[in-house]
Amino acid sequence: MIKITLPDGSIREYAKGTTPLEVAKSISEGLARNIISAKFNGVTVETITPLKEDGSLILYSWNDKEGKTAFWHSTSHVVAQALEELYPGVKLTIGPAIDNGFYYDVDLPDGTISEKDFPEIEKKALEIARGKHDFKMRSATKAEALELYQSQGNQYKVELIENLEDGTITFCDHDTFTDLCRGGHIPNTGIIKAIKILSVAGAYWRGNEKNNQLTRVYGISFPKQKELTEYLELLEEAKKRDHRKLGKELELFTFSQKVGQGLPLWLPKGAALRERLENFLKKAQKKAGYEMVVTPHIGQKELYVTSGHYEKYGADSFQPIKTPKEDEEFLLKPMNCPHHCEIYNTKPFSYRELPKRYAEFGTVYRYEQSGELHGLTRVRGFTQDDAHIFCTPDQLADEFKNVIDLTLYVLGSLGFGNFTAQVSVRDLEKPEKYIGSVENWEKAENAIINAAKEKGLNFVIESGEAAFYGPKLDFMVKDALGRNWQLGTIQVDYNLPERFDLTYKGSDNELHRPVMIHRAPFGSMERFIALLLEHTGGNFPLWLMPEQAIILPVSEKHEIYAQNVLNSLENNDIRALIDNRNETVGKKIREAEMNKIPFMLIVGENEEKEETISIRRHGGEDLGAISVKAFTDLVVNEINSTLKSF
Ligand SMILES: [Zn+2]
Ligand SMILES: [Zn+2]
Repeated sequence: MIKITLPDGSIREYAKGTTPLEVAKSISEGLARNIISAKFNGVTVETITPLKEDGSLILYSWNDKEGKTAFWHSTSHVVAQALEELYPGVKLTIGPAIDNGFYYDVDLPDGTISEKDFPEIEKKALEIARGKHDFKMRSATKAEALELYQSQGNQYKVELIENLEDGTITFCDHDTFTDLCRGGHIPNTGIIKAIKILSVAGAYWRGNEKNNQLTRVYGISFPKQKELTEYLELLEEAKKRDHRKLGKELELFTFSQKVGQGLPLWLPKGAALRERLENFLKKAQKKAGYEMVVTPHIGQKELYVTSGHYEKYGADSFQPIKTPKEDEEFLLKPMNCPHHCEIYNTKPFSYRELPKRYAEFGTVYRYEQSGELHGLTRVRGFTQDDAHIFCTPDQLADEFKNVIDLTLYVLGSLGFGNFTAQVSVRDLEKPEKYIGSVENWEKAENAIINAAKEKGLNFVIESGEAAFYGPKLDFMVKDALGRNWQLGTIQVDYNLPERFDLTYKGSDNELHRPVMIHRAPFGSMERFIALLLEHTGGNFPLWLMPEQAIILPVSEKHEIYAQNVLNSLENNDIRALIDNRNETVGKKIREAEMNKIPFMLIVGENEEKEETISIRRHGGEDLGAISVKAFTDLVVNEINSTLKSF
């Protein structure tokens, strides 16, 4: 008999060789029907893998991330079989699950796959899936595995096998199809009810541009047709809200090949938007006791050798900048922290003067691979809404709560309400992995967990996920399309104070090490604005809109009155402009709608006579003719109701 420990801590005994599926059945038939993947002692196994020793077992359904991974990876086998049948001679390489679906990289004998071929591939794959074929793992010797793929002339699989140890090689069979595979499948193909091929792209073998270019076929699959339909609708909506598309339409930012890939250029409206966001955060930070600092975009190489960043980013990032002086080298800064440590080091502090909170909108540079660049979310130069808090270990708990308050205020004012958080702590079984005393780690972890509890955060604790230098808390927000984004990390750091020899004088008159906290509620201005664009579809909260109102004179006769209206709006800090082109009001309204301007103010004969403006809201709501004063009050009230004070 073997002892199986389940996630709720209960221990059950089974005959040696019992499978995860049988364990599920022993609990309930309903559970067994939903189980599509399992993990035994931390390793992904098949649902039909015989369990031969004591251990902990986790069962996964479609609703778990791990279940989806098995589902999508299994579908990649089915799609590969379809490709083999439709494109004889195709060479298969790898087919992993990804965040949303899966891909398979193939070397096509001749020709290409294009969008018009997708329905045929989907049809074929679905036909195979309906055959309800079991996924069966089988071991093979290295010689057998090599022989199989050598006989097919598949140099890719041969290369993969050559890098594997004999005795560890497995195949997965289903129907007439065989693939080299480590495992992690759903029980059978019949569970796959809907398959969609989403796109094709070029991909180099092993990501190396010196290698052959392969065709990457992206797809997704679901256990219900309805879920696919919903997913495709979501995808359509996401396309409309793509920040790259909206950024162009709303004239917020651009990129220039001449300036360089991944280096965003902020247009006037985008720069003004950033400025408003920065001012908003600066104001809240000031109230929370932060002080602004400014540091340069470069620093001596030695600075980053001291901080350890050179070791981490050096080889793969922008290379040192030389000067006419021999041996002198500077780096574009990949992080602001080393500069802030040196600011702390300019004078001695006593414990009474702590915490020190230094904030900076600091621009940093990291060399992302060109294939990884994506709009504003993956760039090579970006501005962090960075701050570093230096405090005593006893102050950590309060500081953490303050940062959580600030983060919740900031994100809440921007229309994000759906948060979860992850607290990353040590792996207690591997103490050698972490720097800093056990006492300090315990203090910090408890401080974070208590702060999260006290602030009512919905959080999970992940053990073993902490960085070697300290535990952290990450905020996740759900956007309007239900997608999760990671924002606002709060990271404790015992490492940099050590490396920079930071000290403060304690009440005992001795020198002690301060604790450092890194935090950035937005993460970076670039990524945050991208997220905000996709979350709101460009309809930002009123206080943030580049233009809050547009005045539309019915004819040129009313231009002077329009100008008077504009002046009084500007006197009340409302951002407005006049569209006095010689166009119809209908056309002007359509364009203002496209530009997402919240209020359209129509002025004509009647309005001028009555000293009113006719208000139309973005989206079409007609608020009728009101006085400029009434409109100003309306705007101010709306702003005050969303922008709560901190
Ligand atoms: Zn597989
Ligand atoms: Zn930092």
